[in-house]
Amino acid sequence: MKAAVLESYNAPLVVRDVPTPDPSRAGAVIKVAANGICRSDWHAWAEHWPGFLRLPHVLGHEMCGVVEAIGPEVSRFVPGQRVIVPFSGGDGSCPRCHGGLSHLCDSPVMPGFRSWGGFAEYVAVDKADLNLVVLPEEVSFLAGAGMGCRFMTAFHGLTDRVHLGAGEWIVVYGCGGIGLSVVEIANCLGAQVIAVDIGVEKLDLARELGAVATVNASEVDDPVSAVRELTGGGAQVSVDALGIQQTCENAVRSLAKRGRHLQIGMTSGQAGGKLQVPIDDVIGGELEIYGSKGMPAHHFAGMLRLVAAGRLDPGRLVTRTVALEDAGGVLASMGRFDTLGFTVIDRF
Ligand SMILES: [Zn+2]
Ligand SMILES: [Zn+2]
Repeated sequence: MKAAVLESYNAPLVVRDVPTPDPSRAGAVIKVAANGICRSDWHAWAEHWPGFLRLPHVLGHEMCGVVEAIGPEVSRFVPGQRVIVPFSGGDGSCPRCHGGLSHLCDSPVMPGFRSWGGFAEYVAVDKADLNLVVLPEEVSFLAGAGMGCRFMTAFHGLTDRVHLGAGEWIVVYGCGGIGLSVVEIANCLGAQVIAVDIGVEKLDLARELGAVATVNASEVDDPVSAVRELTGGGAQVSVDALGIQQTCENAVRSLAKRGRHLQIGMTSGQAGGKLQVPIDDVIGGELEIYGSKGMPAHHFAGMLRLVAAGRLDPGRLVTRTVALEDAGGVLASMGRFDTLGFTVIDRF
């Protein structure tokens, strides 16, 4: 099969033939129909997480497709079924998996990171019964791809972690793919969304997706003051969807007392996994800080009901489709932080 192979960091991906995978006994092989290119791919490609990958490697962890083959122990899926492959799979045997938190598995099944991923014609997924999710007929592959990573991480963060309520103010710092997912989902959940970024196109798209106000951080002295004014004293929920010092700090400082901060932007290389949090504000306002990573496969039902009914549409975030051969160029461009919404590979 054809795959775009990461042979060395910060270098173009090499599109070449590699062996087509076979399913493990409890696994499946998926013919990839669409695969989003995510900022996590860029972090991995740029070696922001040293030692995380073993090269050569095939990236791609935001995908959906059709079941091509199954192992003898698979009982819930058959070849021909349309499926989403969430990146945050579990092994089914650790205490986290037994507790219903397979996305926090101690030996996670993560195609695209722990094994070869979806920048290829086919991808193998272990423990298929636990880790695959049926993609409803009425949802396109293009819309389905993002649900395997950014869209589900946003949904899980807002619903299972900070329990966003109708009518609450939520401010989102960073309107990349995951930030815009937060905007769309928070609006669907009935919250009042403020989007903050420095990109005019990103803020325009945020308004289209339901933001009631936007703040262009390059045009105001202090975005925190602007948010505190708009909200009459601070937001109930803040989100850092970028993962840099400024956005994390500003997001926390934008909260009202007893506010909840959701961190979903991961740090880049220079930060080495650490950002400074205004901790006296956390104490003074009794603030809470949450993380969100993926979502357990069995939590997809609620999100898929909203998507199948047309009340949520991850497809609105897809602004560009590319061929597999273009994936490396897209990754290399992401250091400029100017991609808009989701770029999805749909030609393999
Ligand atoms: Zn991702
Ligand atoms: Zn587990």
